[in-house]
Amino acid sequence: MNLYEQQPYWLMKNGIVAQYASLDKNLSIDVAIMGAGISGALTAWYLRNAGLSVAIFDRRHVGMGSTAASTAFLQYEIDTPLTELSGYVGERNAVKSYELCRKAIYDIELICKKLKPAFDFHLVPSLQYASFNTHTAKLKQEYELRKKHDFTVEWLDKADLKKTFSFEASGAIFSEDGGEVDAYLLTHALLSDFCKKGHHVYNNSAVKHIENTKQGLTLHINDDLQVKAEKLVIACGYESLQYVPKKIADIHSTYAMVSEPLPDKYFWHRKSLIWETATPYMYFRVVSENRILIGGRDDSYHHPHIKSSVIRKKTAQLKNAFVKKMQHVPLKPDFSWAGAFAVTKDGLPYIGTIPERHNTYFALGFGGNGITFSVIAAEILRDLIQGKKNENTKLFEFNR
Ligand SMILES: Cc1cc2nc3c(=O)[nH]c(=O)nc-3n(C[C@H](O)[C@H](O)[C@H](O)COP(=O)(O)OP(=O)(O)OC[C@H]3O[C@@H](n4cnc5c(N)ncnc54)[C@H](O)[C@@H]3O)c2cc1C
Repeated sequence: MNLYEQQPYWLMKNGIVAQYASLDKNLSIDVAIMGAGISGALTAWYLRNAGLSVAIFDRRHVGMGSTAASTAFLQYEIDTPLTELSGYVGERNAVKSYELCRKAIYDIELICKKLKPAFDFHLVPSLQYASFNTHTAKLKQEYELRKKHDFTVEWLDKADLKKTFSFEASGAIFSEDGGEVDAYLLTHALLSDFCKKGHHVYNNSAVKHIENTKQGLTLHINDDLQVKAEKLVIACGYESLQYVPKKIADIHSTYAMVSEPLPDKYFWHRKSLIWETATPYMYFRVVSENRILIGGRDDSYHHPHIKSSVIRKKTAQLKNAFVKKMQHVPLKPDFSWAGAFAVTKDGLPYIGTIPERHNTYFALGFGGNGITFSVIAAEILRDLIQGKKNENTKLFEFNR
């Protein structure tokens, strides 16, 4: 599967941050991780910190899967509103999932502080506005439910929005808790720190076959090498679906563009993350070098090779949708790309085990909050792999 097409901004901006060689000998370790994107990197880092011997294998290069293409909004609001999620999983579990995502934003802040270099991590508020007047009542209900459960939210009506954000919409939820990061750089920093204590990352090392016997797991890498492991973590992003016997997600296509740099005068209230209620939605934020990133306008199918003419058309749609709201901003597209994107029935990720694969754990942060879900997955898998209980496991299990 092509995980993305054309030029994700972070790959162009950061280039190849670190080189890792491919596997050149057989290994024996406690935990093998398939996939060196943000999910694999966080899980490897958490497991290393728990004292386990871990190695991580990627068929491409570190961070060059979906992580490089991510627009990297850090939000506790998932694509399924709390009101709707409560209908799927009950209000208690829905609120708990939102709370875990909120905690994950602050966990990422702590990780970034520990790892030191700048990853363009910032805490920023987020604003979700009603795309149409008919969406206002439902959005207000969402605000009330979040308020009831102590999320720091404010309701902005038409006049407030005009005054604070200088655009027209019938209402919006302003949330204090949100963030943004360069997920590609963070992945590299996690793995660079992971390697400091003698652990290894292998690029160009595809797991071609997984042998699972009573004696343990054997991974066959690049046809001629073997890795023996007591436990396996599958963190292959959207390519993980082949390892799960039942259908758990649909693959859609999503689009993003980054503008040329702009002077400060064009930015809005606290450089908030902004998104809307329409489906598919459009979202935007400010990224490094004072550029504006706009994403969304998803298609509910994924073509393995998205044509450049389609990306050009989507870029124009994203630009027009943005300019409709922010008429004063002279936005010029500079980078555009398309990516695969997995969507689950309730917007929640799949984390944990399945009966068909012994000693195997999945970190599948599917949905619009893949990065915050990856933090939750790393914490749950660290506990499960060490034989400890984690009370959040039930929320994201495969047979929910
Ligand atoms: C355009 C776009 C916008 C997004 N916006 C956001 C956002 O705003 N906020 C957010 O939280 N999330 C967002 N996401 C989702 C988020 O980017 C993903 O959930 C996240 O990057 C997935 O990370 P991952 O590590 O699970 O997968 P990946 O980054 O894809 O990493 C998986 C790795 O596994 C490797 N692999 C696959 N098969 C094998 C094998 N057999 N052997 C060895 N290695 C293998 C791949 O090469 C790959 O590097 C967005 C995604 C896209 C595409």
